Amino acid sequence: MKGKIRTILGDIDPSELGFTMAHEHVLDDPRVGGYMDSEHVLNDYEKAKEMLEVYKDAGGEAMAEASTKHWGRNTLGMAELSRETGVKLICCTGYLCENQVNMDEWIGNKTIEDLVEEMVKEVTEGMDGTGYKAGWIKAGTSYNYISRREEMVLRAAARTSKITGAPVHTHTSTGTMGLEQIAIMEEEGMDLNHFCIAHVSRNPDYWYHKKMLEKGVYLIYDGPGKPKYYTDEVLANVLRKLVNDGYGDRLMLSNDMGKRTHHTVYGYGPGLTYIKNKFIPRLEEEGFDPKDTHRFMYENPARFYTMYK
Ligand SMILES: [Zn+2]
Repeated sequence: MKGKIRTILGDIDPSELGFTMAHEHVLDDPRVGGYMDSEHVLNDYEKAKEMLEVYKDAGGEAMAEASTKHWGRNTLGMAELSRETGVKLICCTGYLCENQVNMDEWIGNKTIEDLVEEMVKEVTEGMDGTGYKAGWIKAGTSYNYISRREEMVLRAAARTSKITGAPVHTHTSTGTMGLEQIAIMEEEGMDLNHFCIAHVSRNPDYWYHKKMLEKGVYLIYDGPGKPKYYTDEVLANVLRKLVNDGYGDRLMLSNDMGKRTHHTVYGYGPGLTYIKNKFIPRLEEEGFDPKDTHRFMYENPARFYTMYK
């Protein structure tokens, strides 16, 4: 519904969303779609519940759950988790990129229109035969290229968005192909105020991020606390420049913790409290205005995830 955010338990007013991680995973099994890395299997309901309880205790209130059907999205489980913990989950329809889903099997000979039909149904009727609806549309591209079928998914995502009013949020591989994704969305006539690109922190290039933001899109930095890619210092410096350029209302933070080894409840880290308890205090200690960090976690996700139809 126009002006509402579509959580798994129903449409809510954006003012009710609260502190939100913009791209996370809590309950999935990607082996369903042909991605066989067992480290990515998050199929333990009790652990997922514990994750959300820890997050909630730290002040977390909502998250965009980024597991699609082929990533083994557990619709009934997520609805139950949200009901039990009170953490709002905004779930997704759509597809990831080629090496994360067996597209021969999952897309095969489907046309763009077939994909649109499937995605519209998940947003307007429900996912996996339930009445629990998706609140955003996912698409994704490979490292430094866009395959024919990835392009079909991007176009289907734009068309689904224009029909349903749900926002589109994409996966990038190592942060590449963002501008090329934008060009495809523009060809489809997508309003870029409802388009968001994730994983750009894997490619923390100020010039490149600014070029994308100039088009009106949102960006998600989901790499803090993962120094094997980039240190938090690198990410903080790019964020600071973008905020100084006036893009503070287009940036969101998350941790994209799709592996067991990202989660404290499995005995690892950084865990769902890292952004709230470590990264944001560090940004503020280094001079970020708390109004800006508040925008990253509250206002921007609430605006971006609002249905525009
Ligand atoms: Zn993810």
